[in-house]
Amino acid sequence: MSSISFSQTYKTYKPERDKIHSLVHTKLKVDFNFSEKQLNGEAWVTAKPHFYATNKITLDAKAMLIHQVSLNNKNLDYNYDDASIVIDLPKEYKKDEEFTLYIKYTARPEKVQQKGSAAITDAKGLYFINADGLDKNKPTQIWTQGETEASSCWFPTIDSPNQKTTQEIYITVPDKYVTLSNGKLESSIKNGTNRTDYWKMDQKHAPYLFFMGVGEYEVIKDSYKNIPVDYYVEKEYAPYAKDIFGLTPEMIGFFSDILGVEYPWNKYSQIVGRDYISGAMENTTAVIHGEQAYQTPGQLIDENVQENTIAHEIFHHWFGNLVTTESWSNLTLNESFANYSEYLWREHKYGKLDADMHLFEDSQSYLDGQNTDKHLVRFNYVDKEDMFDLVSYNKGGAILHMLRNYVGDEAFFLGLKTFLNENKYKAAEVHQLRLVFEKITGKDLNWFFNQWYFGAGHPRIEVSYDYNTIQKKVTVNLLQLNVNEFKFPLAIDVFENGKKQDITFL
Ligand SMILES: [Zn+2]
Repeated sequence: MSSISFSQTYKTYKPERDKIHSLVHTKLKVDFNFSEKQLNGEAWVTAKPHFYATNKITLDAKAMLIHQVSLNNKNLDYNYDDASIVIDLPKEYKKDEEFTLYIKYTARPEKVQQKGSAAITDAKGLYFINADGLDKNKPTQIWTQGETEASSCWFPTIDSPNQKTTQEIYITVPDKYVTLSNGKLESSIKNGTNRTDYWKMDQKHAPYLFFMGVGEYEVIKDSYKNIPVDYYVEKEYAPYAKDIFGLTPEMIGFFSDILGVEYPWNKYSQIVGRDYISGAMENTTAVIHGEQAYQTPGQLIDENVQENTIAHEIFHHWFGNLVTTESWSNLTLNESFANYSEYLWREHKYGKLDADMHLFEDSQSYLDGQNTDKHLVRFNYVDKEDMFDLVSYNKGGAILHMLRNYVGDEAFFLGLKTFLNENKYKAAEVHQLRLVFEKITGKDLNWFFNQWYFGAGHPRIEVSYDYNTIQKKVTVNLLQLNVNEFKFPLAIDVFENGKKQDITFL
């Protein structure tokens, strides 16, 4: 029955979240209760109605104790259900009319109940590592992990990728610890055995990109132009920090040049977190890497296992952080670009053959995976964490490579620059990428995007050759085994007397 299938499809449809309010600014003051693994927080959340006038606002706040909600020093009524706070505003606010809520709360990450993913194996937002200090082989650290919607485990916000906010964070810690957060360290003030670091970020970014890191780190200083580039590592790796992360300034410069959009943020820091739950995360200006990044010069001679990841997270600072996917359905707008940056970096640094080898390996792991029937842009996933797969990453990167070959280098990089400039500090969906490339090339690209972005799978082709020695004629037979045939650019190299001839079809 069609009505049933319609309602089933509708039920699983995952839209962009409605923008009822827009975040404007987020100010936080936090300190930590190490023994309870809790955060004591105060938040000043500035927001405004997106379009329709409203006298209520809903903020995501997971597993918190809410102590006070007020506006202009007047307490407000609210309803809290352990996942979100619905707050009664004192009047109806109109479009663009800003207000600042004050919320005093305790974040309890150990009480959070939400599912993790394959890429990110847990989701409590705020992690205390060896909080009681009992493990003598492990330092005490704190780090956060916001993606996908776990920042609301440690501060109240509208935890959706289509929101952007500027931020300030005052972090109070025992003086022996170093802190890292987004943006610039404005001040550091001692108070007895504690110290309060004040971090400020003047450019808007999505709540899932907020970050805090705390621990006994050495900070190794580097730079790109006038921009500080810092490496936060444990003492024993301090002598090797530049061996591990030292290509960072060159990568930032290369990506700035190739995109024609200068690195948009005011610093770039990388920190290594113990027991980190993923490979790395592109928190704006405050990237965290897992312990696998720790390598000694002897190990680095064989391979810097983190090099592709370092490039990947840097590139997210344009694709993901400057322009952000509006929904997890469009995640490939973040991840395909970050994946493809690994190709771009390797092509620049080590040559096309090396880059092609990397692309081949990535394509193979997509082909070997179990997900080849999934659409690149998927509105019907079961869990948003499922989007972090070899389709969004590896297939997405390969599709960008095909698009580059189809439109040509000049149009491709002009397209990326235009897409970034048109959508900077905003969220976007894949159609905006298509429209940019259509405008630049003058070509209709619906067929390309419908097939590759909004469809699934890949061509399955049987190839056979025949050479007729009398006619001196080569015949190449290509047979598509797919039920729905794919249209795609194809180049065949023909070698004659040692000379290569490229024949392109489409
Ligand atoms: Zn990524």
